[in-house]
Amino acid sequence: MRSGFEAQLRAVSLRVTRPRLAVLAALRDHPHVDTDTVIRLVRADHPTVSHQAVYDVLRALTDAGLVRRIQPAGATARYEARVADNHHHIVCRSCGVIADIDCAVGDAPCLTASVDHGFVIDEAEVVFWGVCPDCATERTAQRSASSEGST
Ligand SMILES: [Zn+2]
Ligand SMILES: [Zn+2]
Ligand SMILES: [Zn+2]
Repeated sequence: MRSGFEAQLRAVSLRVTRPRLAVLAALRDHPHVDTDTVIRLVRADHPTVSHQAVYDVLRALTDAGLVRRIQPAGATARYEARVADNHHHIVCRSCGVIADIDCAVGDAPCLTASVDHGFVIDEAEVVFWGVCPDCATERTAQRSASSEGST
């Protein structure tokens, strides 16, 4: 897997460095994490990598297209290493957890605007919002607990 990351970096003319490999590995194992979590994951294995180095790596990898930055409304930016397949995200309104949803079409833009105002459209940002199974279970549990209390 490590050699895969090296090939990815070389393909976009980025030098292969330990922090870059560490960030890619962290995002492969933990998709949709925020900057602080990436720092924590990387520094758990590589304590000598500074916070600033992780920020710089995230920016370089995002600019190079190896990492995708997503920022649902009202949430902090998250990063993932699954790129270039135009997949979408479902976000839990309650706890903010994010899951991938494959795009039915696969290529951007996957929605056709009814009026394009003369723009050349290259992306449709689709975010699904809802309640994750954990939060849904919790709500049901709370509801039955409170109805038990009132009877
Ligand atoms: Zn949730
Ligand atoms: Zn994703
Ligand atoms: Zn789509």
